Parts: sequence; structure tokens; C-alpha cells
Amino acid sequence: MENPGSTNRDSGPPRASAPMLDIEFRKVGKVFASRKGQFEVLRDFDLEVRRGEFLAIVGPSGSGKSTVLNLMAGLDRPTSGIVACHGHPITGVNSEIGYLTQHDSLMPWLTVEDNVAVPLEIRGVPKGERRDRVRRMLGDVGLGGFEHHHPNQLSGGMRKRAMLARTLIYDPPTLLMDEPFGPLDAQLKVVLQAELMRLWNATGKTVVFVTHDIVEAITLADRVIVLSHRPSRIKLDEAISIGRPREVHEARFAPGFEDHYRRLWSAIEIGGSEQVR
Ligand code: ADP
Ligand code: MG
Repeated sequence: MENPGSTNRDSGPPRASAPMLDIEFRKVGKVFASRKGQFEVLRDFDLEVRRGEFLAIVGPSGSGKSTVLNLMAGLDRPTSGIVACHGHPITGVNSEIGYLTQHDSLMPWLTVEDNVAVPLEIRGVPKGERRDRVRRMLGDVGLGGFEHHHPNQLSGGMRKRAMLARTLIYDPPTLLMDEPFGPLDAQLKVVLQAELMRLWNATGKTVVFVTHDIVEAITLADRVIVLSHRPSRIKLDEAISIGRPREVHEARFAPGFEDHYRRLWSAIEIGGSEQVR
């Protein structure tokens, strides 16, 4: 992986810099105001995501994982510090990014085809081209033949696939995924992980992937970061040594896997002050 040449984290003012970085956090603070007062989620949070990297984020519930993704997507603003994309501070919704949120966000009144077409419609892609691209994408995620179904006629896994198709249809260079395979059964999870690996290998996209599953994180990622309880910081930054390409159902038997697993497991603070959201 390239050296972005910007690893000095001196004590000067935060500043966005390196062009080889996809996303960077410089001394980011995030405080939510609540009735009980200030609620500090991130403090002096520094993170660099390199272009083309597959980064996994794990950490206890409430540690700010979704907040980090929301900041990357430009759906929220830092209270202090800088969040930048390709060297430029993010000031609005980040159109470079496809965001697969934690919760089901398909529109129930639209067919699968129409749901997946929404990002193209927003971008003014003509109807004929829209239909072709949507059909192709649905085929790619294994939803061929379900174009005219509505979300409530699909299984949970199929809805996730439809959301993935809707995220990928406009070919964003960066993908944010918030516990995308969490509620799925083990078999389907492996199938979708393999699809994601294939896509990542083929396209060189940057992926930031939040999961509570350490095995999944090690299996997929180049690097896994562990967040602490809030105010959150990066407690462990673990480069994954397992070679590529990886077979998702075999990565756990690869040399080095166990060591990664032990280190990550002992860094994650289970329990603590946070409620499950
Ligand atoms: P995680 O994804 O790691 O479970 P989140 O990023 O969702 O954590 O949330 C971190 C903390 O910030 C949680 O305690 C949550 O309740 C709080 N929080 C998140 N979004 C808001 C918001 N918009 N307003 C107030 N508090 C929030
Ligand atoms: Mg979350």
C-alpha cells in the first residue's frame, strides 16, 4: 500500500492534506447535546483511510461507529477538527460515497427495480439506460427475476441485496457499510461476504465496514480498528497479514488468523456503560 506521507500527527492545528488518502479525520471531536447535557462521542479522533483500502471498524455498542460513518458520508458535522475526503473538508452530503446504513431503508411502496433506480433518477440518467443498468445490477447481486417484487415480499437477505444494489448502481468510489450482514444467517452471510470480496477485488473501491463480528472483520479487511468506549479513540489498529485473494470460508484457518483474533478480542471492551441501541 502506498505511503501517504502524512503520518506526522504533531500538535499543530488540524489540516487536511494527503491526496492518496480517501478519507481522513484530524483531531475530530463530536459532541451531541441532550437534555442531560453534553454527550461526547469522539475526542481528538484521528483516522486515515487509504484509497482502495478495506477497513473494518469494530467496537462496543455506542462507541461511535455509526457516527464515524455519518461524518464520512457528510450526513453529520464534526464539532471540532476536520473530516476530509480526497484532501478536501467535507461540507455537504458526500457524493463520492455509497452508504449502506444499518437500518432497512428501502421504500416499501416502490418495486425492487424502482428502489434501485432512485440514485440514477436523482442523477438524471435517462429511463432506458436506467432500466438496463438496474437489471444488470440486480443480476449481479442475485436478484434477477425479482424486479417487480415489493420489499415486503423479500427475505431479509434479499432486502440487503437490494440495498447493496441501490448503493452500487451509481458506482461510488467509496463504500460505507454499517453492520450490513449482521442479522443474516451464517450461510447467507458467507455468500454475501464472498460477493463483496469479488466486487472489491474487481473494482478497487475503498470500503469502510462496521461489524461486531471479529471473524468477519479479519476475513474481509486489510486493517481492523477497535474503538474504545466513548469518548472514543482508536484503541487498536491491526493490519491483517492474511494474503489475498482470500476465500471467505477459509480465511479463519489461515496462519496468523488466531493471533489477530486474540489481539482484537482482548482490545474490545465488552459491557461497560453503554446500553445496546
Ligand atoms: P455505535 O454505532 O458504535 O453503536 P453510534 O455512533 O450510533 O454508536 O452512537 C454513539 C453514541 O452517540 C450513542 O450513545 C448514541 O446514543 C449517541 N448518538 C448518536 N447519534 C446521536 C444523535 N443524533 N443525538 C444524540 N446522541 C446521539
Ligand atoms: Mg451503529
